[in-house]
Amino acid sequence: MTGFLALLCRVLPWLVAGLPVVAQAADASPGPPRGKQAPAAGSDVQRDLTLCDRGRRQSPIDIVATRRQAQPQLRFQYRSAPLRIVNDGHTVRLRFANGSRVSVGRETYALQQFHFHLPGGDRLQGEEFPMAMHFLHRSSTGGLMSLVVLFRLGAENPALALLLPAMPASGAAERTSPDVSVDPAQWLPAAHGYYRYKGSLTAPPCTEGVQWIVLKQPLEVSGAQLARLGRLFPSHARPAQPLYGRVVTEVP
Ligand SMILES: [Zn+2]
Repeated sequence: MTGFLALLCRVLPWLVAGLPVVAQAADASPGPPRGKQAPAAGSDVQRDLTLCDRGRRQSPIDIVATRRQAQPQLRFQYRSAPLRIVNDGHTVRLRFANGSRVSVGRETYALQQFHFHLPGGDRLQGEEFPMAMHFLHRSSTGGLMSLVVLFRLGAENPALALLLPAMPASGAAERTSPDVSVDPAQWLPAAHGYYRYKGSLTAPPCTEGVQWIVLKQPLEVSGAQLARLGRLFPSHARPAQPLYGRVVTEVP
């Protein structure tokens, strides 16, 4: 049993209206250790672990071979929103009410939240990244899309420098600061070329059918910033999952 399977489904409150309860867990972060007792056959937990273990469209992946395809560019309409921030002990998450969107062709997704991962998860040609942000979106028909921004070790990230002092300790209640606004566009690289594949939530229940869009251009984060984030929530990485024949498309 892998370490990942030893993690229990933890239903977190980024609710995806219209989806079954089991699909409401964040992809963000694994839950607490499940303990030594195996789940009963046929239980929800058993089903979830089966999909995490046996699903064939799981995230993250190592992006190696890609197929260049005529695909629509991303059109961001991100807007500043009042700060709503929580540290659930697994990640720091910022929530957004409807207002920020990104369009891919005819599909438009509303930004629901973003959160942080240490290390990054998705790899590029085997390269591991010390940090990633996942921007979770939902379309009007319930489709989920996770937009990934990867970070390399380098210079201090100015947006993170502003946000770090506002990050609460683990277990604190969600903090809302109407006077402090957060512009999600400040966390995007200048170039919006991307990789796209069919993936999943990265924590149980590992729900599939999630569009994964990984921006090609990484941002930078300093070692001091990574250390500070690492004191707020632990590092946890789901290993790269097998492709099972999936094609990764690339948009320059
Ligand atoms: Zn995530």
